[in-house]
Amino acid sequence: MSQSTYDYDLFVIGAGSGGVRAARMSASHGAKVAVAEEHRVGGTCVIRGCVPKKLFVYASQFSEHFEDSVGFGWTVPQAPTFDWKTLIANKDKEIDRLNGIYIRNLSNSGVEIIDDRAVLKDAHTVHLVKENRNVTAKNILIAVGAWPNLPSVPGIEHAISSNEAFDLEELPKRIVVVGGGYIAVEFAGIFNGLGVDTTLMYRGPLILRGFDQDLRTNLQEEVVKKGMNLRLESDIEAIAKQADGSLVLTLKGGETVTTDAVMYATGRLPNTATLGLETVGIETKANGAIPVDAYSKTSVENIYAVGDVTDRANLTPIAIREGAAFAETVFNNNPMAVDHSNIPTAVFSQPEIGTVGLTEEQAGEQVGAGDVAIYKSTFRPMMNTLSGSEERTTMKIVVHESTDKVLGVHILGPHSGELIQAVGIAVTMGATKAQFDATVAVHPTAAEELVTMKEKYIPPAG
Ligand code: FAD
Ligand code: NDP
Repeated sequence: MSQSTYDYDLFVIGAGSGGVRAARMSASHGAKVAVAEEHRVGGTCVIRGCVPKKLFVYASQFSEHFEDSVGFGWTVPQAPTFDWKTLIANKDKEIDRLNGIYIRNLSNSGVEIIDDRAVLKDAHTVHLVKENRNVTAKNILIAVGAWPNLPSVPGIEHAISSNEAFDLEELPKRIVVVGGGYIAVEFAGIFNGLGVDTTLMYRGPLILRGFDQDLRTNLQEEVVKKGMNLRLESDIEAIAKQADGSLVLTLKGGETVTTDAVMYATGRLPNTATLGLETVGIETKANGAIPVDAYSKTSVENIYAVGDVTDRANLTPIAIREGAAFAETVFNNNPMAVDHSNIPTAVFSQPEIGTVGLTEEQAGEQVGAGDVAIYKSTFRPMMNTLSGSEERTTMKIVVHESTDKVLGVHILGPHSGELIQAVGIAVTMGATKAQFDATVAVHPTAAEELVTMKEKYIPPAG
């Protein structure tokens, strides 16, 4: 690609999921590309998100595996012990490995990596803060992601977010996790599985707002069975540190809770506060998100934004898709918009949630409650017949009655993240319930329930 007036054809700010994919693909189409990263290449997902989180989830599940094995004839010789520092060290090693792969992949694609913070100077100029120099680019892609948002409660400086949770010096004996979204639910499960006395504290009556109602209710029951303390409709008013290092949380209403650590997972805000957006005339939404069109273009012709900074669907595969679509659109003469409907997603709670498409409530709003048929099943998976675990799995299919199209599938149970990836293909293809039923079951699995649910769910009278 010939470009003489600017230093680069593309300057990417942020080497996370979206920025890396966009940079590599744009370079593969012949663009001269640089990417600035102020922390570590790989971004949130690799360094302090999906990857270390999933490793922690695995670590936390062993306690239950040891217990479950007894019913199958195993004797666990002595109470198993867990070493937090070993987990942290091994996790760090794996992140270093992935970080190295990301750097190599960018370099091999011909992308220049600049280890610096970048801010906008004008529509074609970026200022590199550490190096204190300006560079110019024909196109700029903002892929700066988001950052934890903690409410301004007195004593909030004593709280941690998921960022710090990945590198705690010691595993606390007691923790209160505040929030009811993905991160709160996942981390409460991690700490609980690792033997920490864990309280999940949520301001509303039911965690995971926006997810299917049955899954939300049943997950709450399951986490309590696993020994987690669930405090609903609770809000912290102040946090005070005691001389012994413990924290006293004063709740609205006056009650106090003593703990060793408090982690807030109360949402994330786009990293736009000091990015220089005002210098190019880009106005953000109230939460700092950058508005973009279907092709990820901002209000400025040559400036695009992808990933969490646009607050469309804050998931890694979406940031990657938006980055790829940007490269196709701008550097391969192939305008491509990302479809944000039917996104399969998993919450790595314990048990796990896998979900795709519309919830029962959303379907009712979209096609009319009278035209929605529900199929659902709650059962004790085979594994638990001998393990003795009381954990139950829930599967639910939401169907548009007049067309027979499956509008949503919702699963609470082991491996449901894996399951929903495959089910997501059928839902994306527009499969009907009859086609689910025509699929031969795999026996014995939990997933066979998805093709054998014949009876429509009729809510009990009254
Ligand atoms: P990021 O990956 O956040 O990348 C942005 C990068 O920009 C960062 O590296 C940052 O350092 C850099 N940056 C910011 N400002 C500047 C600047 N001015 N100059 C230079 N560099 C800058 N998603 C899933 O799909 N599955 C999961 O299991 C999952 N788990 C998660 C767990 C946690 C704890 C968290 C916090 C998130 C999780 N996510 C998960 C969400 C996922 O991590 C994000 O959706 C994804 O990383 C967004 O990618 P991005 O490219 O938009 O931003
Ligand atoms: P979410 O937006 O998912 O959840 C935030 C939670 O905090 C909600 O329960 C919200 O309550 C509550 N909350 C917000 N403000 C306050 C406050 N001031 N006081 C008390 N509670 C408050 O954000 P997360 O931080 O959990 O995660 C951010 C995003 O990262 C997710 O939405 C998801 O897109 C992504 N992610 C994806 C994962 C995955 O794919 N497995 C895993 C982790 C993160 P209310 O519901 O009442 O508003």
